Amino acid sequence: MTTKRGQQVIAIEEHYWDVEVSAQLTTADAGGPNAIQERLLDMGELRIKEMDEAGIDVQVLSHAPPATQRMDPETSVALSIGANDRLAEFVSTQPDRFAAFAALPTPDPKAAADEFERCVTQHGFKGAMIHGLTDGLFIDDQRYWPIFERAQALGMPLYIHPAMPHPAVVDAYYKEYVEDFPGFLTAGWGFTVETATAGIRIVLSGVLDKYPDVQIILGHMGEGLPFLLWRIDSALARPGNKPMAFRDVFSEHFHITTSGNFSDPALLCSIQELGVDRILFSVDYPFVMNPPGVEWMEDLHLNNEDKDKILSGNAKRLLKL
Ligand code: MN
Repeated sequence: MTTKRGQQVIAIEEHYWDVEVSAQLTTADAGGPNAIQERLLDMGELRIKEMDEAGIDVQVLSHAPPATQRMDPETSVALSIGANDRLAEFVSTQPDRFAAFAALPTPDPKAAADEFERCVTQHGFKGAMIHGLTDGLFIDDQRYWPIFERAQALGMPLYIHPAMPHPAVVDAYYKEYVEDFPGFLTAGWGFTVETATAGIRIVLSGVLDKYPDVQIILGHMGEGLPFLLWRIDSALARPGNKPMAFRDVFSEHFHITTSGNFSDPALLCSIQELGVDRILFSVDYPFVMNPPGVEWMEDLHLNNEDKDKILSGNAKRLLKL
């Protein structure tokens, strides 16, 4: 365990499949190589072995997309509760190696807020993860604000994770290339645009003014937003826009992770925009394998104190681990 230098490693966007939730997924969501599906369902030897081999001490587990976002409200509530209970049971068997983010039944926003609270207070979960759209709506829609209200009350973050873009967007922007380049629609671009849009909309909605202590986490080095913060801020300051300190709000309310984006230039840009205290290590297992992530951090030209923050210190603080 730990890196070659003996630094503790906490990875916070690491996925699994709940048996009952994954049984509901469509072919498009459940597609992908068998090696990934095998690892999503593995809650035992293989997962631990691959953590040990790479030097990962702790995985903060979350369901893989789309989790329980795209179900009818009743099914979503029942499956979220069941999945969170099963996840809590698993984490309790090895609490030194695992922690968890709650799956929220967003199709019933009030129940989602209540389930968030139940998972934190009863199961000791460290936040909640939301995957893409619910009923075709982004999470900044006012009907979902009870979730932000509860995040503030609990002092726990909301991780905004990609899922498949809206069907109309897939049709208009991606469909000609999906057969030859399925990654263009997903992790290669479509997920990024979708999730960056969700992040921008959260800032524009004003929900963070209403609940000023809420912290949002974006994966994949902030879904490109650190690179674009200056321009977004500048464009929103032009005449015709409602006054909005976009860059300040983003920098005060968002943390980002390294999931699936082990790029020196992207990290450098993110450190310059957000500061090292807002950047957390993660892999995106098993869509991305563990060793390239840990090896990248080991070889990175960054002082050990800042590396410690990224590898574990910031997670301990933000997630109260
Ligand atoms: Mn992921």
